[in-house]
Amino acid sequence: MRFSEFGLTTLKEVPAEAEIVSHKLMLRAGLIRRLASGLFTWMPLGLRVLRKVEAVVREEMNRAGALELLMPAVQPAELWQRTGRWDQYGPLLLRMADRHGREYCVGPTHEEVITDIACKELRSYKQLPVNYYQVQTKFRDEIRPRFGVMRSREFIMKDAYSFDIDDAGMDASYQKMHAAYTAIFERLGLTFRVVLADSGEIGGSKSQEFHVIADSGEDAIAYSDTDDYASNIETAATFLPEGDRSEPGRDLEKIATPGVKTIEDLCKLLDIDASQTIKTLIVEGTDGPVALILRGDHELNAVKAQKLEGVAAPLTMADDKTIREATGSTAGSLGPVGMTLPVYFDHATAHLSDFSCGANEHGFHYVGVNFERDLPAPETVDIRNVVAGDPAPGGKGTLSIARGIEVGHIFQLGTKYSEAMDATVQDSDGKDRAMAMGCYGIGITRIVGAAIEQNHDDNGIIWPAPLAPFDVVLVPINMHRSEAVREAAEALYAELTEYGLDVLFDDRDVRPGVKFADAELIGIPHRLVVSDRGLEAGELEYRHRRDEESRNLNREEALNLLKESAIS
Ligand code: ATP
Ligand code: MG
Repeated sequence: MRFSEFGLTTLKEVPAEAEIVSHKLMLRAGLIRRLASGLFTWMPLGLRVLRKVEAVVREEMNRAGALELLMPAVQPAELWQRTGRWDQYGPLLLRMADRHGREYCVGPTHEEVITDIACKELRSYKQLPVNYYQVQTKFRDEIRPRFGVMRSREFIMKDAYSFDIDDAGMDASYQKMHAAYTAIFERLGLTFRVVLADSGEIGGSKSQEFHVIADSGEDAIAYSDTDDYASNIETAATFLPEGDRSEPGRDLEKIATPGVKTIEDLCKLLDIDASQTIKTLIVEGTDGPVALILRGDHELNAVKAQKLEGVAAPLTMADDKTIREATGSTAGSLGPVGMTLPVYFDHATAHLSDFSCGANEHGFHYVGVNFERDLPAPETVDIRNVVAGDPAPGGKGTLSIARGIEVGHIFQLGTKYSEAMDATVQDSDGKDRAMAMGCYGIGITRIVGAAIEQNHDDNGIIWPAPLAPFDVVLVPINMHRSEAVREAAEALYAELTEYGLDVLFDDRDVRPGVKFADAELIGIPHRLVVSDRGLEAGELEYRHRRDEESRNLNREEALNLLKESAIS
């Protein structure tokens, strides 16, 4: 491709709307352009990268025996009503009506449509197992679209759905996808981790996520330092601490704490650590508000809490008015002593003694609180996020925390959808059986952003070779004035292209500095510079995007090096 014919505009300025480096670089390098909130156009350069991701994903899915199809993006409400998700999905679902007033949504995922296909196409266990997949545009009306293509509203997903006669079959199909995903992310050259995950709105039993490790990741991942345990923090379990509670050392005392609204305020006033306090959060329940009690330095885990009996899902914090009516106090002065609402205590509160907490009276707190003396010893549950240093499950080692970007998610669904939609086949005894399903998603567009988060420097993107929009950038110096440079560059362009390499030939009449800056910004792995001086010495200047310095190679050496990169 000749740069002069590629129509690429790069930006020097960092666009104000972009918070993280991949979003900034994608805009600056001209990979994407924003249309509206969460909606992006993939420009020719970006689309080249996207197509490379898709190609790797398709190859590995096909290799794993999955069958590609393409379902409609628009889905009738009636299907979603059959599984109950029309009501459950909430505002994430973009709904609309046609000219006849019939309701539809733009698919955020395709379990209903594929199960409808399975109902119609699959009749006998002999047709199983089968795994259908597509690469397709999804729409989710995200509450906070951000980070460019990482959390957009319209995005491209590869989604696959497996159908088996029983759970053992489903497990085998799931393991195949686990292996295919591992191969995909390895081939793409990304550093990733597979973690246990929550199944969310999709439902089902087991699920695992594939995360690209990056500091800007929206998810926190807890992993063990002694074995291969790793989990999204949403589902990483905490346990009742070992050992015993210390004996009370202080008397219970109620003190005035005017102006104290947060645990931080309380700690400052009393000069204590947050781990010696207890905080009380009021959430909406199915039968009135519920109090959740945690150690002051711990964070509530919404995914765990919303599964508790009596707690409303999705987890919703009670508003000030509800809190006042339910407790007679304000949010900053709540505590477990004398609390009249239903209460859940987190495991980590079990062994506290001489702790401080709100007195359920506006502007007052208790200090020197002790279980079994001032309030009954609690039954405890797991409602907090793990923190670094917590014990790993299995009793060995401790947990560390890393940040990740979820790029893939695999689920064992069981018969949730097949039962709701009567997707049965005849088993070997001639009996109708609901099929056991799995579903498997990869965020194709998100991968591009995630790859940049992991591979960049101050000057721009550094594409892993399998994702690069071009393999080589060919930079002639002074080509518009030197016939020798023009001839040599044109000949190299033809020859490299012949090898099957994707070459970006920077034939623009601009300063070399501009060409170098653009080549670094857009992150092409190999750079070859042709200049009069080099030609006189029989040399070309070569530099890999990751190299500190360039080196001079003769023509043959340079061609061999690039030829090899084309093969590998
Ligand atoms: P998240 O937790 O990030 O909102 P999710 O768990 O809701 O994602 P899934 O239903 O598991 O997403 O979808 C499969 C894959 O689609 C995700 O692993 C992710 O890579 C991608 N994806 C989901 N939502 C978005 C989005 N808003 N923008 C871009 N990619 C997305
Ligand atoms: Mg997910």
